[in-house]
Amino acid sequence: MKKGFIGVLLLVVLTMAAPCAGKNDAGRQENAITRETIKIAYLPITHSLPIFAEAELQKDNPAINIELIKYGSWPELMDALNTGRIDGAIALIQLAMKAKEQGIDLKAVALGHTDGNVIIVNNNINRTADLKGKAFAIPHRQSSHHILLRQMLDNAGMVEQDLNIVELPPPEMPSALANGSISGYCVAEPFGARAVALGTGKVLYYSEELWDHSLCCSLVLNNSFIKNKSAAAQELVSRYGEAGKYISGNRDEEERIAAEYLGVDKKVLDLSLQWISYSNLEITAETYSSLTDKVKRYGLSQNPPTYENFVNPALLDK
Ligand code: ZN
Repeated sequence: MKKGFIGVLLLVVLTMAAPCAGKNDAGRQENAITRETIKIAYLPITHSLPIFAEAELQKDNPAINIELIKYGSWPELMDALNTGRIDGAIALIQLAMKAKEQGIDLKAVALGHTDGNVIIVNNNINRTADLKGKAFAIPHRQSSHHILLRQMLDNAGMVEQDLNIVELPPPEMPSALANGSISGYCVAEPFGARAVALGTGKVLYYSEELWDHSLCCSLVLNNSFIKNKSAAAQELVSRYGEAGKYISGNRDEEERIAAEYLGVDKKVLDLSLQWISYSNLEITAETYSSLTDKVKRYGLSQNPPTYENFVNPALLDK
């Protein structure tokens, strides 16, 4: 009887212990695999600074591992985003809106920056009308730079056809201005600051003088990533907002991180960072509505995605 009782007791202990051991193993496995690697593409511009800062600040985050992938141009970066080779990118919001319009399921979750663009002209140009008949470069038709140019022309009573608008890769713009093949340009930074630092160009307008609360770059995520990896997406975007605030309140760190990722000289960087802000990266319905109005007015798109379909503001901590 006693022997039988011990046998039953042993069996009970074993059956109780077995699921416990299994659960602990599973727990350990879960911990080992929950550090989600998130692939984010970027271009080496000051407009991408919060994601550089986040990658540095979160390098020991147990939940996410941010893998930054550098691209050389917007079309290459958008191709990687649109074909799902990456989870997200810091991209021109207008390019992401166009992709969404064409059926790619993307969501804009935060801004890359606020303000931070300038209209650069050669030293002989003193007002918009002086640009009549001259060549002016933008990086892409689908860009805030194109909108800023069109707004400037509008304000001066001029139209697109009054000058020769050309698309150039951003790094070529300062030298094109210096050699006289263009008379002005508007592009992501630090390429505007470079012409000013070299003395070959000057600022005709700051973006906020032409378009209050302008929208330019955005943290854009594939919606499948948000749906399938919701905890990682939440962590990424919350920490992204924090990184923006961190560099806004810490100029030395802002400069150090920018120098590390952009490799530009201090004079250019100092100038460029004076023009830009990262403290509030929320995309509001009001600012998005002003963007869609301009996108329609200047012919970038007649059917831009709605705020409800394209923007997911909920992941960013306010
Ligand atoms: Zn930008």
